[in-house]
Amino acid sequence: MNDLQRNESVRRKLAAWWDTNARDLPWRFGRTTPWGVLVSEVMSQQTQMSRVVPYWETWMRAWPDAAALADATTAEVITAWGRLGYPRRALRLQDCARAVRDRYADELPRTYDELTGLPGIGDYTASAVLSFAFGERIAVIDTNIRRVLSRVFLGEESLGGSAKPAERELVNRVLPADAARSVTWNQSVMELGATVCTAKRPLCDVCPVAEHCAFLAAGRPGLGERRTRPRQRFAGTDRQVRGIVLDALRGLPDGQSVLERSRIESLWADHVQLDQCIASLDEDGLIDMLPDGGVRLPQ
Ligand code: SF4
Repeated sequence: MNDLQRNESVRRKLAAWWDTNARDLPWRFGRTTPWGVLVSEVMSQQTQMSRVVPYWETWMRAWPDAAALADATTAEVITAWGRLGYPRRALRLQDCARAVRDRYADELPRTYDELTGLPGIGDYTASAVLSFAFGERIAVIDTNIRRVLSRVFLGEESLGGSAKPAERELVNRVLPADAARSVTWNQSVMELGATVCTAKRPLCDVCPVAEHCAFLAAGRPGLGERRTRPRQRFAGTDRQVRGIVLDALRGLPDGQSVLERSRIESLWADHVQLDQCIASLDEDGLIDMLPDGGVRLPQ
């Protein structure tokens, strides 16, 4: 079998696998708008898709389009973001919504340059929206896709970090020429990386492309050694402290918006770290610090 035949066989096997194994997520299979796809992509960066589903559903019920989100208060947006993590993403998403409403009459643009010109939208999100929402032929490059393609076609682990020119060349080279097939390809490779060809414990026994995988054939050299994403300690970090403060604000009873200083101090024993975190939340626009030492979500 030559390279072209092998590539084609990988595509067919993955497409068949996708037909029966794709997770039934509410933003897939044309069941939402391009804006809904964009929201799902922003929420899924750094957060597992299965955790995103209830947040996405509540979010889209509250703000089904960019104009609706643009009009929400910052406090509502931060509260709805809940425990998705990295809450600055919520503010960037609202900035993006305002730009879509103001520049594009509430219609998500469909060119790469226009999409990447929106606040918070980088190469990955723009490519994913063009592929998944608009059906365009474009290579989507994320951690899962890089890991799977590097293993299958190069027989080695992806190096992580920013994508190298050789990786970009590979991703583009194996992308099907037909637009519809390229969409299925992007989705199925990404899904395989999320559910079967995982970083540490790939399930090669049930993998649909195992017979063509150069990494498996080579004995899975260095499996998991090159972590594509370094493990991050969470306990005791500023991220944890910031999350605790935001959780306390979200959990205030109706009609109460201010977290008093005494309550803040009860949240975390190290008050130096606590105050640094409160200052950084304020700098990021996620809370307002009040003169009496209390804090509240931005109004
Ligand atoms: S055979 Fe194993 S390493 Fe290769 S793509 Fe499948 S799961 Fe990944």
